[in-house]
Amino acid sequence: MAWLKPMLKLQSAFRAPSRFARSAAQHLGKSTQHLGKGPQPLVKSTQHLGKGTQHLEKDTQHLGKDSSPVFEIRSSPGKGLGVFATKDILRNVDIMRDPLAFRAWKGENLAERHRRFIMLPVTTRQSILKLSEGQTVLDYRAIVYATYPRDNNYEKESIIEIFKLDDIIDTNAFTIAHDTGLTVELFLNACRINHSCIPNADQVANEGTGDLVMRANRDINADEEITTSYIMRAAPREIRQRVLSGGWGFTCQCPACDPSHPFSHSHEQRLHTLLQTYKDSACYLDDDGRLKSAETWPYAALEQVADSFRRRTELLTEHHSLRSFTREVYLGAFEVAVAKYKLRRVRSDLEEALKLLELTIQAERIYFGEAITRSHEELYAKLERGDISGV
Ligand SMILES: [Zn+2]
Repeated sequence: MAWLKPMLKLQSAFRAPSRFARSAAQHLGKSTQHLGKGPQPLVKSTQHLGKGTQHLEKDTQHLGKDSSPVFEIRSSPGKGLGVFATKDILRNVDIMRDPLAFRAWKGENLAERHRRFIMLPVTTRQSILKLSEGQTVLDYRAIVYATYPRDNNYEKESIIEIFKLDDIIDTNAFTIAHDTGLTVELFLNACRINHSCIPNADQVANEGTGDLVMRANRDINADEEITTSYIMRAAPREIRQRVLSGGWGFTCQCPACDPSHPFSHSHEQRLHTLLQTYKDSACYLDDDGRLKSAETWPYAALEQVADSFRRRTELLTEHHSLRSFTREVYLGAFEVAVAKYKLRRVRSDLEEALKLLELTIQAERIYFGEAITRSHEELYAKLERGDISGV
């Protein structure tokens, strides 16, 4: 099912699901696996495009002279704590830049992880351990004191903390993809953000700082709760519900998940149609949703794929919670337009390619930052000169 993989990419599954059924003890003897050494520093972009992309600077403005936080953490009815806007926040404005508190690796030896943990400043350790309040399902103290064979309370307390830390990471950490692999990372403010399948905030690239950056994907009113998605937000409701109840132990009650809410039906229909666009163009696209064997398709087939990308773009831009996925679609559509231009050398296809590349760059600036757009800006300048060599 080649169409399924791109669909699976339509997610921001940055939160690791909690394993409430504990199996931590069995990991204690395993070796540590280090998957990477952290994010690669990004290169600052120096090129700028024409006037078509200038408005983005306004869209991605930061908070101006008033540097007080735009959020606060307080009780969220039925959800424990949550993050709330303290003032109106405009779309594409950063809500928080949360510094990394602790980084762990999937499959890491828990005892070694704990040894790294106790090297942290005491205030950081206390803040991390506080995350388990109201979240830990099992009474580790009772279990360890009842079952640990040795009469050594220091060892028992260490084991309790090892289990707690693992639970905290399972429940609160964000899974971060680096060039070298996946890490699970704790951010003390961002982990308080509750889930919605139609979130008003998205995690965006941190441009090499290691901070977790949350950005508004629509205008947010003061006092509104900030939400992000823990799962594949483009999956059908039934799957979302199953993943959330199985992984996090709650039933999502966002408008998209409430069948009685008028929004739910239209949104599910939108997601269904979106999935259909992937199925319809599956034979032309690879697992990343990009055109495969571009040189082999006749012009009519490329037009068909271009239509599919257009429909997909319409659907993704219909709702704020889906806009962050447009970058991949613009990029895929750009490649189709280039393939069309190569076949017939029609000027309008080149203009279409330029327009799509510009949209790709705009999306990259919002979700990945200026630095990552550099190669595409260079490509844009090259294409503008009519040079398609190596494209
Ligand atoms: Zn939901």
